[in-house]
Amino acid sequence: MDRSNGIYDQVEQDTPEARAARQLDKVQTVIATAMKSSGEFKARMKAAGLCAKDIKDLDSFSRIPVLRKKELLGLQQDKGLDWLLTAAPGELSRIYQSPGPLFDPEGREKDYWGWTEGFYAAGFRPGDLVQMTFSYHLTPAGLMLEEPLREIGCAVIPAGPGNTTVQSQLMTSLPVTGFVGMTSFLKVIADKASAAGMDLKKDFNLDVAFVAAERLPESLRTEVEEAFGMKVRQGYGTADVGCLAYECLELGGMHVSSRCYVEICDPQTGSPLPMGEMGEVVVTPYTLSYPLIRFGTGDLSRMVDTPCACGRTAPKLAGILGRVDDTAKVKGQFIYPAQVAQVVAKFPQIEKHQIVITNEDDRDLLTLKLQLSAPLDESVFVPAFQEMVKLRPALDLLKNSDQIEDGAAPLVDLRTYE
Ligand SMILES: [Zn+2]
Repeated sequence: MDRSNGIYDQVEQDTPEARAARQLDKVQTVIATAMKSSGEFKARMKAAGLCAKDIKDLDSFSRIPVLRKKELLGLQQDKGLDWLLTAAPGELSRIYQSPGPLFDPEGREKDYWGWTEGFYAAGFRPGDLVQMTFSYHLTPAGLMLEEPLREIGCAVIPAGPGNTTVQSQLMTSLPVTGFVGMTSFLKVIADKASAAGMDLKKDFNLDVAFVAAERLPESLRTEVEEAFGMKVRQGYGTADVGCLAYECLELGGMHVSSRCYVEICDPQTGSPLPMGEMGEVVVTPYTLSYPLIRFGTGDLSRMVDTPCACGRTAPKLAGILGRVDDTAKVKGQFIYPAQVAQVVAKFPQIEKHQIVITNEDDRDLLTLKLQLSAPLDESVFVPAFQEMVKLRPALDLLKNSDQIEDGAAPLVDLRTYE
């Protein structure tokens, strides 16, 4: 079976101009629908002094204030789910509940959560027998990721999470070629099967995996791929909006999905940032039942538009690089723990680090606590830090008796405001 050939939808090969025209057309349709019947969107536009005809292009679209994930829970609880919908609850397809508790409505549109092109890009093909290990209970994960498999023409074993022994028995007694779930869980299955004397390449038929919901270290990907002789590709999405981006077989980031408009924005102002800069992932899915227009995910990423050998032309998200909540603005500059970690990684004598932000007399101070195993040349470290983070840190070199605890927050903001 050739898993690398072809694409699911022609729009994945659009020119940048065609993509932008389609994006504008889609967001205008969502806006028109939301202006008619979403109480939330009408209120947001009114508060910003905007009406639908002000949104003439993608630049003016970006003037619509961002709806933050944090606000969504309060809106659902105070105003009721109806207020955010354009259809009556009984006209939806399903309503899930994710932790919060937050309702995740699913409309009746085809491929509602938009994962199908991602599964196709990951190598899933008609005739695959796929084991689904995400939960089907309350959370949208299981059903959300099953739909694309049915769309492509795969058969699904709705195994759900847990019960490693049964998972392994299913995979070895049936010709299971695909896995959907978390990579860490696939590794547990591999370790248990190996310990029981099974041969992961001969006793299993796994060819492809679509993984999500956790950070995927490259070392873990390689380990599982080599153990089973398979490809492991990841998707990025949320329970609110579904798929945002996915990896193709070429890797090098996650292609932005054609079923939503994704912007990388300044976490404070919500304005889009130039290509390549890090900021908050803001998404507008093109689905109409539950319009989440300019939805701020709270995730940090950057977009890259280097051409991909797979033939898909959509730019890529360069991974999820942290959470907005873990960032802080100091002297007009965002401090991203992921960038600090990148600098620190170049100095092996730094065992642990923590960013601490304080203020005194209206002046912000960024202190970097460092736990060292050997001396550090500050005249090399400080300029490297400044180059990446654009600020000069005060260094606090810890003594042995004063260590950074395991699992400590990467950034602590201790500023107080009178
Ligand atoms: Zn690609």
